[in-house]
Amino acid sequence: MHELALARNMIEIVQQYAREHGADPVKTISIRLGELSAMSRALHFCFGAASRGTLCEGATLHIEEIPLTVYCPGCDENKLPMGRYSFRCMDCGIPTPKIITGKEMELVSIELTQSREHLAPKLDRPAHPQGQSTHFAFQSV
Ligand SMILES: [Zn+2]
Repeated sequence: MHELALARNMIEIVQQYAREHGADPVKTISIRLGELSAMSRALHFCFGAASRGTLCEGATLHIEEIPLTVYCPGCDENKLPMGRYSFRCMDCGIPTPKIITGKEMELVSIELTQSREHLAPKLDRPAHPQGQSTHFAFQSV
């Protein structure tokens, strides 16, 4: 149930953000997931159920999958490993324990819908420009 916990954790962060910005429903959530987390399909699957009844309900979840790359001391370069579970340089075959990319779990942006009820001007809070994004990482539990 790791994916479900992750989905809930992400929804909680996004909701928090939406509440701070007028509590408009969330339109799009974009995240970046490392290939190593092997989670994107499961997360997509969980998102619908986990977001029900939250400000994230009905939002589109965009997942950008980051490929796994490792540092090869032999080639002194970042390389692709032989496989997801075989951390050896694809070119020279030596072990490459240092992972450069592929472990990311990052929230890239959140887009809120602007519901008609919120069109009344509120001077204490600037209107969020279309496509505004926020950058922060979320942690899996
Ligand atoms: Zn190498």
